[in-house]
Amino acid sequence: MNLSRTNAIILAICALAWVLVVVRIAQHEPVYEPREIVSARDDVQRYARQQLNDLQRRSFHESREFCGVIVEDELGNLSTMSVSEGDIASCQYEYEGRVGITPVASFHTHGGASIRFDDEAPSLQDLQSDIASRMDGYLATPGGRFWRIDWQSQTANLICDEGCLLQDPDYTPCPAHEPAGQYDIKRLQKRFRDTPSRC
Ligand SMILES: [Zn+2]
Repeated sequence: MNLSRTNAIILAICALAWVLVVVRIAQHEPVYEPREIVSARDDVQRYARQQLNDLQRRSFHESREFCGVIVEDELGNLSTMSVSEGDIASCQYEYEGRVGITPVASFHTHGGASIRFDDEAPSLQDLQSDIASRMDGYLATPGGRFWRIDWQSQTANLICDEGCLLQDPDYTPCPAHEPAGQYDIKRLQKRFRDTPSRC
């Protein structure tokens, strides 16, 4: 076998290996094209409200947060990617990008009623993480309040008050924790600085 023939064989093997690598990357990392959400905000909100209401009883019973991501398919249908179990004061949702699926909003519950936590409003971290992920967020509290975090205006907005979602039977209103109807980051920082966490 002469030298140029050996070189040609080595180059052919390299080319084949490269093709295999590209094919494997294409199989495992599908091209993800973010697109505009077509669902109306009211539809997303209605979906989130139902999803959260369905999780409230279990959230009270197990004294833990539940969270997840609402996604939209190419036809504009909404669904929940997965529901994660958190602990008493936090929850980490799982999101796996897929072709044709667009993340629309996050949601989470605040577990069961507790006099140890000021949990009738979104936490500062709730607001900051939704802004960072450029996604609206929905929240259900033990008192049955329903909140929307609007990442674009960077505000948390009370959609409906005490008892509009399922309420923990152990919930007793705490006058010191009575939330305002809207918070931006500054007002939320002030709330948690000035409000004792225990009622
Ligand atoms: Zn929260």
